[in-house]
Amino acid sequence: MIPFNFEYYKPKTIEEAVDLFNSLKSAGKKPVYYGGGTEIISMARVHNVHMDAVIDIKGIPECNVHEVKDGELIIGSGVTLTEIAELNFFPLLSLTIKRIADHTVQGKITLGGNLMGPIIYKEASLPLMASNSKVIIAGRNGKRKVLVRDIYDKEKGLNPCEMIVQIVVEDKFLNLPYAHVKRTKNEKIDYPLITIVGLKDEKKISFAFSGICEYPFRSPKMEDVLNNNSISVNKRIKKAITNIPGKILNDLNGSSEYRKFMLHTMLKEALLDFQEVE
Ligand SMILES: Cc1cc2nc3c(=O)[nH]c(=O)nc-3n(C[C@H](O)[C@H](O)[C@H](O)COP(=O)(O)OP(=O)(O)OC[C@H]3O[C@@H](n4cnc5c(N)ncnc54)[C@H](O)[C@@H]3O)c2cc1C
Repeated sequence: MIPFNFEYYKPKTIEEAVDLFNSLKSAGKKPVYYGGGTEIISMARVHNVHMDAVIDIKGIPECNVHEVKDGELIIGSGVTLTEIAELNFFPLLSLTIKRIADHTVQGKITLGGNLMGPIIYKEASLPLMASNSKVIIAGRNGKRKVLVRDIYDKEKGLNPCEMIVQIVVEDKFLNLPYAHVKRTKNEKIDYPLITIVGLKDEKKISFAFSGICEYPFRSPKMEDVLNNNSISVNKRIKKAITNIPGKILNDLNGSSEYRKFMLHTMLKEALLDFQEVE
């Protein structure tokens, strides 16, 4: 049971949702956008989240789009992980999603909710970062497009009043060769110790990581080193690990030294998938 009362709204348009958010805020209330509710509800139950109102985005037609059109895959932020895996337009995204939570919960979690939740892993963002995908964001001043890899950036990313409407992937990325390597501490279904995805085009392999720092990331420096075929795979990986772009997590799941050790093994596995290992 959620131990406090809150208002529930289900707007039919983006403008209605954004106006509602802003007017509730101006009235001194705390509204939140609501996707599948899996995180909001479980956190509200234990007093980790308190809101006065939820704005359910699933009644907005643009948030339920899921199609390939004019050279782009467009996925509404209210589309569930199950729907994405079933239509399977982007196999690397489907595979990544099938390793998030379990089948029952995947039917509730939305793509927008996975990208925006406070839990740090946000694994659905990885194939989207590796494919240079963009999100369409709506706020008081209308819509704007931002690279998925910038949505956690303080300046370029979402401000608290904005919502994600759609995610856009160029279709040239959908069927490229890929690698997905996930390790958990205990069970197969668990938050990751580390997850790596890789996507290979004719020029290079793009990598994205979750579970190493407090946010999912893609690092141009690590990618340059990992794609440098003039040095051995072991040297490439060692050098890439020295270029991790933030503080390495050190928690009950694993120490930072253990994470670095596992990252070495997992990167080797990913490169092996691309036949890069001698
Ligand atoms: C048992 C279990 C295991 C899990 N395992 C993993 C895992 O291994 N890896 C992983 O990455 N995730 C995992 N998750 C998922 C993750 O923890 C969240 O529960 C989930 O991603 C939230 O999605 P939701 O649609 O339910 O979001 P909600 O609970 O509705 O919202 C989450 C947050 O996102 C915001 N939000 C939602 N939609 C939008 C939008 N369109 N625009 C702006 N903000 C929005 C909300 O305001 C809220 O702050 C797991 C969840 C469960 C329950």
